[in-house]
This record gives sequence, C-alpha cells and structure tokens, in this order.
Amino acid sequence: MIRVKQGKAPRVLTDAEGAAAKERREAREHYTGSWSKSFKFDAYRHGDVKHRLNELFHYKCAYCESSYLATTSMDIEHFRPKLAVVTENNGTIKPGYYWLASEWSNLLPSCPDCNRKRTHDLRQEDVEPLISGKANLFPVKNDNRASLTPDAERNETRLLLHPAQDNVEALFKFKVAAKAVAMHPSRTRGINKERAEVSIEVLGLNRPELQLARNEVYLRFHAQLNSAKRALRRFTLDQSAINQDDLALELKDLVKFLNEDQLYASMCRYAFNLIRQQIEDQLKPLLPAHTGSSIDFVVGQAPVEDDVGPLG
Ligand SMILES: [Zn+2]
Repeated sequence: MIRVKQGKAPRVLTDAEGAAAKERREAREHYTGSWSKSFKFDAYRHGDVKHRLNELFHYKCAYCESSYLATTSMDIEHFRPKLAVVTENNGTIKPGYYWLASEWSNLLPSCPDCNRKRTHDLRQEDVEPLISGKANLFPVKNDNRASLTPDAERNETRLLLHPAQDNVEALFKFKVAAKAVAMHPSRTRGINKERAEVSIEVLGLNRPELQLARNEVYLRFHAQLNSAKRALRRFTLDQSAINQDDLALELKDLVKFLNEDQLYASMCRYAFNLIRQQIEDQLKPLLPAHTGSSIDFVVGQAPVEDDVGPLG
C-alpha cells in the first residue's frame, strides 16, 4: 500500500444536478422510510470514476499494489461498505454506509483478491491455505459502531488503513523468507499498529500468491541494487566521466522501482530506505560539496535515454 493523493472528485459525482446527487437523495429517502429491499446503487460505476481511479492508482490495487490491468477485473471498492456491514462476530448490520455510496473518498480500485472473500491455497506442504478478502467487513475499534445513519462514521475509530488518509508507508516493514516476501506492522504503536495488523488480516496482504508475486519484484530490485553497488565501486576507484555516467544510469534504474506506478512500490521503497544512507555515505566524499542528496545529484547526471525504437 502506498500513499496516494486522491484529489478532487470527478464532476459526475459532485454535480448537484447529476445522477450521483439524484441517487444520493433517493437513497436517503429509501432508507428513511420502512424498507425491505436494499437500494440499488449505480452512479459510482460511471466510466469517469473508473477512469480516474485507474489513472490515480496506475491500474494497481489500492491495497495490495498488484496490477489488475491485463487479466483481472477491477472492483470499485467501497471503503465503507454501502449495503451491509459484517461485524466482528459475523453479524450483519443493514443498511451499510449508504450515504457514502458515491462519495469519492470512499471509492478505491481493488483487485478481486483483496475485495472478495476467497480461499488461497497453494497446495504446498509448508503453506497453510488462507481465507481472506474484505467483502462487507469494516472493523472499528471495540466493534463500537454508531447506528448507521448519515455521518455516523465521524463517531467511530476505523481499523482499516486508507491509502489516501493514512501515512501507510511508514506503518509496514517487509521480510524476505523462502522465496516469499511477507509484510508486518513496523515498529509503530497504538491505533496505527492496530490498523496495520487488521489491514493485513482483513485484506489478506500476506496471502501466499501475493507473497510470491512480491518476491518476483524483490528479486529484480535486488539484482538492480547489486548492479548499482558494482557501479558505485568502480566510481569509487576511478571518478572518470564514464564511470559516473554508468553509476547514474544504474541508480536511475534502481529508483524507478520506487515510482508510484510500479508494482509493490511500498516494498521497494522500504528496501531502498534501508540501504540509502549507506550509498549516500559512500557517494558524498566523491562529489562536489553541497550537493544535497548525493543519489539525486548523481541520478540527475544520467544522460537522457533514447526512445525505444519499433520492435523487430
Ligand atoms: Zn489487491
């Protein structure tokens, strides 16, 4: 999970005369009277909403950072469930947070594995099957949920992390073991620690397939890190222009892993931060004084790469 600025809502959700506003009014009326069937929400599915979420999150799941671009459908996930809420004791409260059904800050793109309750079973002796997925879960502190009427969310302490509302990257650490990368709460305390733990559990952020997928990226990151370290050694021995160019290119390729559009960028940022100081310390004496971050300085020296030509 990385921090994303959600920005302004698409017009289709905020236009006072638009379909979303009309639907919100109708839903309030529906749930104010006596009702037996759930309201049917549709406005949040508008193409503009989907497009903005894809753009913002670069076709990655807001929770696990897997790509849903080519092979899976994207779920427009309601952070606070709109129709019903499943409680800690497996009870169901209806309706859900219906007044947030087309609220921009409540909408996130999710892969089916984070959003739906599913069993994950790799059929490996040492890997236990795991049932996870958010579905209608929305844990709050002490299961202390106000009756679900508009604005009730202001009186509860949520236990799930929101990628646009929490400083999520500071709350996790990653551990590599047996070809898998698991995530754990960082040394944070209090409500943030609780949120990190609950988010891992509810969303299945350590489901076995996801750990393997993370490991694939970690191996590539690590190989690039080794290339950068070799280039740094060459530059340390001989500060020629060509060695500096090589180092700049290697570091540039390394920091690409940290970009928000990259798979599992939170893991790569965590791994990079562990070695950043070491690289800075080695670089600093070799560069002009007052260069600020040596890495940024060197990466800024990298020649512009040629565009990749047509294939074949
Ligand atoms: Zn996901």
